[in-house]
Amino acid sequence: MAHWQCIQSCGACCQLNPSDRPDLENYLTPEELAHYLSLVGDDGWCINFDHEQRRCTIYETRPDFCRVQPDTFSRMFGIDPADLNEFAIDCCEQQIAGVYGNQSEELDRFIAAVDSPPQT
Ligand code: SF4
Ligand code: SF4
Repeated sequence: MAHWQCIQSCGACCQLNPSDRPDLENYLTPEELAHYLSLVGDDGWCINFDHEQRRCTIYETRPDFCRVQPDTFSRMFGIDPADLNEFAIDCCEQQIAGVYGNQSEELDRFIAAVDSPPQT
């Protein structure tokens, strides 16, 4: 069974262009939506994304909607915690393919990571 994990040097989910996410208002509160939109830079990437390092510069204090965790996904998407793993993998695959492409090394790395045995 695949196990969701975030890989290094990706950041595909930090491409926030609202035109690529037309259903934002369906799962964000009005306050969260305003917060989300305040983060979108001119190029559609989050203003907190460090492109050189491909990392979040406010990782410890990033918004809830950036966090892959059971309570957040339950509230935003109605996902049962038991289904979070599969749902998060699908989300990442779609986002990585959309940002970097179906044939990208980022997508290959992600698939290899989630298919590898979990670290104990
Ligand atoms: S798209 Fe997935 S793997 Fe890539 S940075 Fe976001 S959470 Fe991590
Ligand atoms: S706050 Fe951080 S994790 Fe969230 S979209 Fe911006 S760079 Fe990515």
